[in-house]
Amino acid sequence: MRHIASETSGLIVPRECPCGREGAFLCTRCAGLLRVPPVRVDAVCDALQIVHRSRLRETPEGPAGVDHRALLPVLALGEYSGDLQRLVLGWKNGGLAHLARPMAQGLAPAVAMLCSGAQAPVLVPVPSRLEAQLRRGEHHTGELARALARCTSARSSTVGLRLGHGQRGHGARERRGRSAVLTGTVPGGGPLILVDDVVTTGSTLRAVVQALRAGGAEVRGAVVVASARLPAPAAVPGSSR
Ligand SMILES: [Zn+2]
Repeated sequence: MRHIASETSGLIVPRECPCGREGAFLCTRCAGLLRVPPVRVDAVCDALQIVHRSRLRETPEGPAGVDHRALLPVLALGEYSGDLQRLVLGWKNGGLAHLARPMAQGLAPAVAMLCSGAQAPVLVPVPSRLEAQLRRGEHHTGELARALARCTSARSSTVGLRLGHGQRGHGARERRGRSAVLTGTVPGGGPLILVDDVVTTGSTLRAVVQALRAGGAEVRGAVVVASARLPAPAAVPGSSR
């Protein structure tokens, strides 16, 4: 009987990694994609750039112009392409819930980098838009934040946030961006770190950070599994990639 059951479950759930390799739900090669040093990607997220200072004429600090800096540091495990993209999609849309744990283990060093020596942070999942949550029937970034709390000193807490589209007529960045409204209270007890699956331009992160900071929160940064773009290797000191 047990033999029949194992044969049957083998038919229902073939052991296959999202990359297509058979024999394991996560092959060693794909597991390796999650065990890499986190990379700062905020400099390549257009929507996260804010004007830091401007110079009317050339100074020792640089030529005339405007300096930008990112609204917050964002750390990612790699580029959203190839097998890493297949992992994220399999987890998010393909029902492969077991991938949350290895993704969280991969992101744990990123949480430590954002809060080294500081008070234990509170991990806040970036909400999906409502229609995406309804389609999937669950809040997958919440699941990732909880898995991350289990392998770090942090705790996770959801925050009431309503996402919408950016209002028109409030500048180019807002026009192509998103908006977020805080509908709940900011969790206390430590600085906040946002948790998301993928960052593209950073417009959702920007909206969420602005809403949380307006509500009095200290947001240290964000950790994401993958980024649509990575900085050029020369721009990442100490990176082996
Ligand atoms: Zn694989």
